Amino acid sequence: MGQIAIRNLRKVFNNGENEIVAVDDLDFTIKDGEFLVLVGPSGCGKSTTLRCIAGLESVSSGEIVVDGDDVTHSNPSARDMAMVFQSYALYPHMTARENMAFGLKMTTDMAKADINDRVEDVAEVTGIEDLLEKKPGELSGGQQQRVALGRAIVRDPSVFLMDEPLSNLDAKLRSQMRMELQNLQQELDVTTIYVTHDQTEAMTMGDRIAVLNDGELQQVGTPLECYHEPANRFVAGFIGSPSMNFLDVTLADTTFEHDSFTYTLTETTTSELEANDGAYTLGIRPEDITLTAPDDPNAIEATVNVVEPLGDVSHINIDIGSKTYTASIDGTPRLQPGETVHVTFPEDDIHVFDAESGEALK
Ligand code: ATP
Repeated sequence: MGQIAIRNLRKVFNNGENEIVAVDDLDFTIKDGEFLVLVGPSGCGKSTTLRCIAGLESVSSGEIVVDGDDVTHSNPSARDMAMVFQSYALYPHMTARENMAFGLKMTTDMAKADINDRVEDVAEVTGIEDLLEKKPGELSGGQQQRVALGRAIVRDPSVFLMDEPLSNLDAKLRSQMRMELQNLQQELDVTTIYVTHDQTEAMTMGDRIAVLNDGELQQVGTPLECYHEPANRFVAGFIGSPSMNFLDVTLADTTFEHDSFTYTLTETTTSELEANDGAYTLGIRPEDITLTAPDDPNAIEATVNVVEPLGDVSHINIDIGSKTYTASIDGTPRLQPGETVHVTFPEDDIHVFDAESGEALK
């Protein structure tokens, strides 16, 4: 079991004269066995949220309820949660075996031999059987992270809390560990809250992701929901790489008017949009931009700025008017910087945001 309900969670830090609202009225539920990724830019309140759930930080108001029990003011040790930190936080003078066994020794009355069996079982699952007699200083970053994970798993908690556990690893090892961690979580079926600022990690690992900005929840949904139906401009810009392009336009009847082009919608899209004439922000994913012929009614003239061929796809920076946008074009098109091209995008793929609030309208 491990369903976690976060109810109107608020955390304010008082730094002398300044009040910092780190977490602002957070409210959502994490399902039993779910892998939920808390993602957002640096300083948005991810770690503080996780620390409140773990009991390492007191809450200013709100509730944390685990399987119906209000644990808001319980001691960390009474919460049946195991935390994995970015810094691994292993005891340097203990071997991997001792590090993994330590929590069980201190908090249970399990017999020494049973603890040892349990440590060895978990070492097998995390692939560190051969490292058990080594101390952290003798292990690589990836190996230390496996020991830290093993130490959390040994305790057999209802919930794993992970704070950027892979960010000290190099890119290749990180992507390998991402997959291993995901498989392990599925096998163990333990509710997991995983904090990261890396949207790729969020997209690839989470059953659902919760996007935070400035301490406020922006959207909770599956990675694809957040990608295809972002709730607002912030989520749209944060999720996806390269980022969504934003274009300031005004709507006049069925036509979006930009400083440098016009784009006319069909009746169907116009009625679906239910928008009045006025100011909007269009959001276009780089992969939705295509090259087109100059006589396409919705062709937009652009100048090629930078071409980045990646093999299967090329990222092309194009200038439209005074602004630069990114297009992802399949393969390696023969384009030269300075060249004039015509581009367009299907109207089905256009995202429309309220220019002021940023709220998604389509
Ligand atoms: P990062 O990805 O950089 O770790 P984060 O999203 O985890 O960032 P938090 O560490 O939760 O963000 O911080 C949220 C806000 O609260 C920030 O403005 C931070 O400066 C502030 N903050 C965090 N801890 C404290 C503290 N102990 N005292 C005062 N302010 C704090």
